Amino acid sequence: MSPTRQPLAILFDVDSKIPNLALMKWSAWLKHQGWQTKLEKKFTDLTYQKADRYLASAVFYAAKTHRRLELLQQLYGTNLEIGGSGFDLKKRLPDEVETCFPDYGLYGHSLYATGFLTRGCSKRCAFCIVPQKEGKLKRLSSSFDDFVPMEQKNVMLLDDNLLSFSGVEDLLREIIDRRLAINFSQTLDIAWLTEDKNNLLLQIDSRNSKFTKRRMYFSLNYPNQIRLFEERAGLLKAFGPACISVVAIYGFDTSLSQDYERWMYLRRKKYIPFFQEYWPILGVQSRLPEMFFDMDLDRIIRLTFYSNGINWEKYLRWLNRKYFEQFGRYYRPLIEIIYRYNNKQSVWKYLKRPDLLTDHQYHKYPEKS
Ligand code: SF4
Repeated sequence: MSPTRQPLAILFDVDSKIPNLALMKWSAWLKHQGWQTKLEKKFTDLTYQKADRYLASAVFYAAKTHRRLELLQQLYGTNLEIGGSGFDLKKRLPDEVETCFPDYGLYGHSLYATGFLTRGCSKRCAFCIVPQKEGKLKRLSSSFDDFVPMEQKNVMLLDDNLLSFSGVEDLLREIIDRRLAINFSQTLDIAWLTEDKNNLLLQIDSRNSKFTKRRMYFSLNYPNQIRLFEERAGLLKAFGPACISVVAIYGFDTSLSQDYERWMYLRRKKYIPFFQEYWPILGVQSRLPEMFFDMDLDRIIRLTFYSNGINWEKYLRWLNRKYFEQFGRYYRPLIEIIYRYNNKQSVWKYLKRPDLLTDHQYHKYPEKS
């Protein structure tokens, strides 16, 4: 490296859906050391680029992520430094990087600031990466000043279980005093919602991830949590119509009838559902019951929801794949419902194969010879 040349680091964002906080901190730290940084997030036609340092961050433990990492490793070999929960749950940013103010300029990003006030969670939901990765809930030494630019009013909080933190009331008051608009991106835990916390949340400008709508996010992952929602229904009602969004996981360990119980509850309460497929985490495969299809499929597939039809279609497509995996046939009424509004032409992909379709449920079909 020439003594006058500014060294270059290429930062590979392997799979993030939002600006990657770790890479933005790396970028800030490297720039403090006199480096130039370049973000790379396109993986089609990826070719070798000459640089002095190569860093990659992978968030999801998914096949696509692994393929991209392999590609990077083929190009850069041992010069590639990889981090992120899609690669290694225990690897941490060096302290001097962790404490940097994020370089939002890396992504040309100005819609919101993002960061954590607390990390970890004291529960141990089997499908969740947090207990293994972050351990028990703890307050970080960071405050809004450590990741929110002066002029920024939108903040996406990444805290895993903020409401369960014993000093959460002070943090909520700080949000109110600073007049911040907040996206609670990891959802709030209904079990920790009390009247006092609710009164504070009501004063917060809580937003969706695009900051275009008022939204308060909770999660409902098991039927036995419905009771908690019922006990707090009066508190939630105070947010007004079309404000409560509930994220509900599927595809991990619940049967169809258990899922149906949750879907019906969300529908009855007119909460805005977000159906979230289980993303496998390291060492934890989905454990659907052998008899996953344990109820009349027609009762599920004809449901409609107050909002979020595209997300529901995605869930139905997942059901369709599961049905085929289990019974070796596609269930025609389900196919017709999936493609009744969007991608209508895709229905022909199935209809032209009548040998793979059935109008009946629950039959096991013999394997083709
Ligand atoms: S899903 Fe939520 S409550 Fe459960 S362990 Fe993860 S962060 Fe905690």
